[in-house]
Amino acid sequence: MARHTVVLIPGDGIGPEVTRAARRVLEAAGFSVEWVEMPAGASALELGLDNVLPQRTLAAVAAHKVALKGPITTPVGKGFKSVNVQLRQKLGLYAAVRPVRNLRGLKTRYEGVDMVIVRENTEGLYSGIENEVVPGVVTSLKVASRMACTRIARYAFRYATRRRRKSITVFHKANIMKMSDGLFLDCARQIHEEEYPNIEYEELIIDAGCMRLVQAPERFDVLLMENLYGDLVSDLCAGLVGGLGVVPGSNIGDDAAIFEAVHGSAPDIAGKGIANPLALIMSGVMMLNHLQETQIAEKIKQAYDAVLAEGRHLTRDLGGSATTDGFADAIISELDR
Ligand code: NAD
Repeated sequence: MARHTVVLIPGDGIGPEVTRAARRVLEAAGFSVEWVEMPAGASALELGLDNVLPQRTLAAVAAHKVALKGPITTPVGKGFKSVNVQLRQKLGLYAAVRPVRNLRGLKTRYEGVDMVIVRENTEGLYSGIENEVVPGVVTSLKVASRMACTRIARYAFRYATRRRRKSITVFHKANIMKMSDGLFLDCARQIHEEEYPNIEYEELIIDAGCMRLVQAPERFDVLLMENLYGDLVSDLCAGLVGGLGVVPGSNIGDDAAIFEAVHGSAPDIAGKGIANPLALIMSGVMMLNHLQETQIAEKIKQAYDAVLAEGRHLTRDLGGSATTDGFADAIISELDR
């Protein structure tokens, strides 16, 4: 089997705990890998580096093209630009892809949830262009370009087609932001009409869309939206299927990809060894599929499905009392069955 080189960014808070667990599971499943560990976030500053996103971390991801990343705490009010935003913009990781589905064995309020959020990852209000116009008045600029809106729309339709998904719903607020969200819709409609007419297409104003999500999430398939909406709706959707501990994600570009959970660094539980590593393990499974290691990916998926179904080794967020390592150990034992 080919040996892969993957950049590992442990990150902050629960990051080192969940990345260690994910790494153990991937290796135990037979993933032949050389991990290139790189710092980023508040932990990079603690190491004495002067930047939350060291140049060598960025260079490593650009060189090796694939990274598995823990969550990052960007210190607020210290003049640092978000590490995540920088990684996505500088490496051109324009598509955040976040599958949200009911897991076998995990009982939640909803059944039949199986959707994928495709979020534009480089523009919108996360462009980082903010100004103090006069003291006491600031502006944050929402950027939308035809290039980026078309690129993400095409990505979403291609994704839907390849994964045999039936429909795409765009969440927007073009009734208020007529130009920026208007452009986003315009591009999505054009790609639908000209390139993918066989995929069903609908548009929902995001406030009504959120209501429909909590009323009947099973009706949604692929959700397409701009950056900020995708960030917020991802957490809402995580809540539908068991919480932030069970939703993975990827940031995909033409030249590189970073796989990471939707959740943040969870400072409230960091260092206690109780974080759920499943979201990052699932992100690792997405990474394995990206690297064409589909058999290993499937093996891990079956193992965590079995652990969830059995229910004896769940972490606290899922109603159990297992530790981060205990949950990972249970998956590893299941791999050998
Ligand atoms: P969060 O996702 O870190 O935590 C929200 C809640 O969910 C907390 O109660 C936390 O304990 C719980 N939670 C999250 N992940 C969990 C897990 N794996 N297992 C069990 N419980 C889990 O969101 P927050 O508190 O708003 O943000 C904390 C920090 O994380 C902030 O600095 C934020 O900027 C950062 N953040 C980073 C990323 C990223 O790096 N991709 C994403 C979101 C937030």
